[in-house]
Amino acid sequence: MVSSAQLDIPQAIICRYNKIAAAKTLDPVFSPSNGVDSKAFAHALAQPDDDSLGAPVGVYVHLPFCPVRCLDCDNNTSIAHDPAAIDRYLDNLEREVALTVDTTGSGRRLQQLHLGGGSPNYLSDRQLVRLMSILDRHFKIDADTETSLDANPNNASLSQLALLHGLGFRSISFSVHDLDPGVQLAIGRLNSLDKIRDVFDSAREVGFDTVSTDIVYGLPRQNARSIERTMRNLLDLSPSRISCFAFTRATNERTHQRAIDPKDMPSLADKMALFNSIVQGLSSDYVWIGLDSFAKPGDPLSEAQAQHRLRKNWLGYTQLPPSDLHGFGTNAISDLRGYCVQNHLQIGPWQSAVAQGQFPIRGGVKLSGKDRQRRDAITELMCNMELHDYAALFDNDDQQPSTWTDYARDGLLAITGERMTITTHGRYMLHEILNTSSPAHIF
Ligand code: SF4
Repeated sequence: MVSSAQLDIPQAIICRYNKIAAAKTLDPVFSPSNGVDSKAFAHALAQPDDDSLGAPVGVYVHLPFCPVRCLDCDNNTSIAHDPAAIDRYLDNLEREVALTVDTTGSGRRLQQLHLGGGSPNYLSDRQLVRLMSILDRHFKIDADTETSLDANPNNASLSQLALLHGLGFRSISFSVHDLDPGVQLAIGRLNSLDKIRDVFDSAREVGFDTVSTDIVYGLPRQNARSIERTMRNLLDLSPSRISCFAFTRATNERTHQRAIDPKDMPSLADKMALFNSIVQGLSSDYVWIGLDSFAKPGDPLSEAQAQHRLRKNWLGYTQLPPSDLHGFGTNAISDLRGYCVQNHLQIGPWQSAVAQGQFPIRGGVKLSGKDRQRRDAITELMCNMELHDYAALFDNDDQQPSTWTDYARDGLLAITGERMTITTHGRYMLHEILNTSSPAHIF
């Protein structure tokens, strides 16, 4: 078995931070009890905002459909075998987009568009064309719009990828998780290396600029040898970017994970060592981006990080300037005009709100100016590993000073004068805590 000794992080700290990370959830942020509901959000959207009026925006569309459920899945998705269910979803998506632009004005330029899920490319060609025509009708998508989608390799084909490229997508991320057959069997997610290689080649052939992937660590049956094989195969594929996610078996929240045999799960120390193997395996060919992503040298993210202008929004690391973000579909997050809200998670409540002409919000928060400063400070720390003036972190919250002081006491942060930096140990231990989602996990 792998050992965490090479990292020299005390076992007690590994356990403590894994527990903190496992307990972190976005539920309190989007709880209906925060008082931000559909009406409050509609009111906020209707207020003129001089800063954002006419400025380009980001759009995220959630497409919660997959052919099968992977056992390690943490995403909000449903298993659909009836194309009519996806057609109905698109009907409601069209209503939701219209509801928003009726309030904010149509024709705003998109600086960023991302399709996530689920498996966005589980939609048929006809449905993908329809989806893009809905967005095209209401927003301005041009050659400078950063267009990306997540894709399930098992649903991808040369003709589908050519269609997606023709529809304007320039960046695609094939979700892989792990390339070892034993690990794939344990999570019920079978993607042969030949198939993955084929879809990577096809995406490049049709002209995608960025072909990326992900890797998940902490999966059942992962060990030092399996992760090394996966890393070798991954390097052969030469993805533009690799996002790295931690897996925690959470059987209460995600009952399908009960099918994973707990005896197959790596220990916490092994999990840490697996992450270390990924970092070491990628270090000669990739730049470590923020806390948990990797990009080829020369990639816009690598350059942005080198120039201290890397940012993070709900769609991930970005070199783009901050903008309003509209989220459409179940589970989608909107972050604009000081509000951060999430749509209903399930299709039923989402669709019935939209059918009644209401924003399908399950809950959210209104951020004060100080909250936003604090969020920006945490995000900057995550992106650039340092903060020149950490005072913003300690504003208006009694709990936070002790949290950051704890991190410093445990060697995860270094504080010199007004400057705070994330240490190497901190980069390993804090990414799950600060990054379950973004921006900055809303504290
Ligand atoms: S393909 Fe992705 S979203 Fe769909 S079930 Fe598997 S992990 Fe979840």
